[in-house]
Amino acid sequence: MTTRFSDLPKRVQRLPTDRRGFPVPWFVAWRDGEPQFPVVDAAKLGVAWAGELCWVCGDKLGALRGWVVGPMSALEGATPEPPSHYDCARFSVRCCPHLSTPTAKPSARYGEAEGYAAQANVSKLRSGATAIWVTRGRGATPFHAGGGLLFGLEGPERLEWYAAGRPASAADVRAAIARVLPTLRRVAEREGRAPDLARRLQWLDRWTPTEAASREG
Ligand SMILES: [Zn+2]
Repeated sequence: MTTRFSDLPKRVQRLPTDRRGFPVPWFVAWRDGEPQFPVVDAAKLGVAWAGELCWVCGDKLGALRGWVVGPMSALEGATPEPPSHYDCARFSVRCCPHLSTPTAKPSARYGEAEGYAAQANVSKLRSGATAIWVTRGRGATPFHAGGGLLFGLEGPERLEWYAAGRPASAADVRAAIARVLPTLRRVAEREGRAPDLARRLQWLDRWTPTEAASREG
């Protein structure tokens, strides 16, 4: 296999690559022998959760799990995507252009993806920052909402923010939260959950990198 990346996790090295040499994550939909980046194969959602398989590489998960979430999912405590090995999640947030490039335009292909999976990818892309929400064991409870499957997350052991493929600064994270906040506020007010959102914002602030850590990084 040829790839344009060095130091890939072993499991990611085993994935097929596209014409550019980019490893194709297990969750990506294929059509006519071509991976449809960044469209999620919705049929794999249930398979991954039931079999405890990694969303990125498709192998069996261990105890430590990384949920790749944007600020919207972090604030709602729910995500449409199953977890990955921590190393695989780290590969995604550092190398996946759809997650690591804050200025990337949403692809026209997003329109082909289904339900929450598509929406979540778009929200991550637009916010400019992505986190690995680390849990042990199952780490979440699945539930149905709005015609899609969501995973209600348990409190994280760690929450690591990335922007543009590197650890995010406090400013990156605050800017990303500010981008999704108007949408979340509208929904929370409509549903009478505004105090809830205020509490979640305070909670998330504790998981935002400090200015000092940002300068060192
Ligand atoms: Zn994996």
